Parts: sequence; C-alpha cells; structure tokens
Amino acid sequence: MSPEAIEPKILDSYECGACGYIYEPRKGDDTRDIAADTAFEALPETWRCPVCGARKPRFSNIGPIGGVSGFKENLKYGFGVNTMTPSQKNLLIFGALGLAVLFFLSLYGLN
Ligand SMILES: [Zn+2]
Repeated sequence: MSPEAIEPKILDSYECGACGYIYEPRKGDDTRDIAADTAFEALPETWRCPVCGARKPRFSNIGPIGGVSGFKENLKYGFGVNTMTPSQKNLLIFGALGLAVLFFLSLYGLN
C-alpha cells in the first residue's frame, strides 16, 4: 500500500557457459536490440550469446549482479587501502624526519 513497500525488482544475471559472457538484465543487450531491464527469462528463444552465439540453455544463473559488483567494489576498496597505507606511512615518516631536521637546524641557528 505504501510506496516504501515497493522494492525495485533485482533481476538475475546469466553467464555464458561457453565464453563467460555475462548477460546483465539492467544493461540489456544493445547488439540485439534488447532493452535495458529485460529479464533473461524474457529474452526471445532466438536470442544467442552476442560474443560466441551460444543458445540460452548454455547460460547459467549467477544471481543478481548487484551483489557481485558490490563484492568487486569491496575488493577494489580493500586494495586501495592496502596500497595507500604504506605510502602514507612513508610520507608521515619523511615528513616527521624533515620537521625534526628543521627543528634542530633552527635550534642550532639560535644558539
Ligand atoms: Zn558466449
């Protein structure tokens, strides 16, 4: 009844068992004039893999792509943190060293 009760339908993605092409319902297949948000089940039986031409039965359900891409984003995020942290540490160490040298030099200069 309330607008909150309506959830966007998450369509399952399908992977081609022959070449690994992934059909994403949210993108559709513009090489065959399949509109975005077309469920794999709703594809015409004549539809074939745009990469290798395999028929629909060769495809297997790999679940909603949202979960898969979210996992990939998490991986990327983890890599970003792992690669950034050492350089930030180096910056901090060199920055602190430089400041210490400047501090000693200024003290020496004052004396
Ligand atoms: Zn294929």
